[in-house]
Amino acid sequence: MLAPTLAPTPASSAALPRIDGQRLWASLMSLAEIGATAKGGVCRLALSELDRQARDLFVRWAREAGCTVRVDAIGNLFARREGRDTSRLAVATGSHIDTQPTGGKFDGNYGVLAGLEVLRTLNDQRIDTEAPIEVCVWTNEEGSRFVPVMMGSGVWAGAFTLDHALSAADREGITVRQALQAIGYAGPAPAAVADGAPRFGAYFEAHIEQGPVLEASGCTIGVVTGALGQRWYDVVVSGQEAHAGPTPMDLRRDALQAATRLMQQVDAIARAEAPHARGTVGYVDVFPNSRNTIPGRVTFTVDFRHTDDDGLQRMDAALRAAITALQAEVRGIDVALQPVVYFPPAPFTPELVANVRAGAARHGLAHQDIVSGAGHDAVYVARQSPTAMIFVPCRDGISHNEIEDAQPQHLAAGCQVLLEAMLETAGRAA
Ligand SMILES: [Zn+2]
Repeated sequence: MLAPTLAPTPASSAALPRIDGQRLWASLMSLAEIGATAKGGVCRLALSELDRQARDLFVRWAREAGCTVRVDAIGNLFARREGRDTSRLAVATGSHIDTQPTGGKFDGNYGVLAGLEVLRTLNDQRIDTEAPIEVCVWTNEEGSRFVPVMMGSGVWAGAFTLDHALSAADREGITVRQALQAIGYAGPAPAAVADGAPRFGAYFEAHIEQGPVLEASGCTIGVVTGALGQRWYDVVVSGQEAHAGPTPMDLRRDALQAATRLMQQVDAIARAEAPHARGTVGYVDVFPNSRNTIPGRVTFTVDFRHTDDDGLQRMDAALRAAITALQAEVRGIDVALQPVVYFPPAPFTPELVANVRAGAARHGLAHQDIVSGAGHDAVYVARQSPTAMIFVPCRDGISHNEIEDAQPQHLAAGCQVLLEAMLETAGRAA
């Protein structure tokens, strides 16, 4: 890890307010106490009692910062600091405070508390903005208790309906509707833009990278230009179970041997599109999975990601061609391909991305353009409002893990870039 880097303010930006990195860190550590695990992580599942406590703390902090707090029908929270021009759409930021069962202190929480730190800094410096400022807490981003993931922002953006989300049930059969009522966060405000929820003039989300790129390059700030598009599939390869001894090699219909050839193709297809693509087989089920039986059926998943939709389309075509070729070549094998998820690539708004880049440059922070490989609330928000993201490194690129860690200096630097991008976009009232 390179040395921390929040450089002295250059003369040209002497009038810019500075966030308080220690206060940001203290807020992160306080929030992380709610659901803290023995290994130093956080377990705070969406809409659980611990989620309620974390929401209550955020609401208290937001009110202490002079904000009004709006709760919508899917439990999204919006802390609002009024602008001078109330006719303008809010310049917003935020993320999520639910975690994975073995989650860390920073995923999501950083984006929310960086937003809170922006509010506090504007208050400290008595800065008024033209546009209102809002800090959002999106419900159930992680999707580990309730599916679909990125639920609150997905409802807001219209990726699926409010009713679909409210009807989702956890493993105990408790629905989102019931869980929201139980913790007191089924709000009165409309949840979807289509139902009257306001759009944003701009939305910025600060987040830990959750990957190894920034740390490897020694950069403090990732200027996120967009998110990878994704196509997911289920593949079922069928052959025939038979005895491993009596069945000669040329008379087998071995589903696993055929499947592994396709799996190799998934990797090769993504490598052929490098560096813009990813291809992963993350789940394999072999039937009957017995030492001395030739496998008769293999089910596996394919996860393709690409920066642009044409590339994703090429990967889809290449996978289908590989299946056709395999079936022509290998006797007695049948392959069924079922598409299950499609997220188009989400390019962020160039003007806002440029704001982020300029902010990093202004402070002499090492930065690079980067594409988000993971889903974030910002990806859905981008369907309705101008959007950009700011990444900061996390140690060893590890996230969704209790050992997730980030440097206070990096978190402060990202928050400073966030503040300046928001202030520039909202406009400083004279
Ligand atoms: Zn997250």
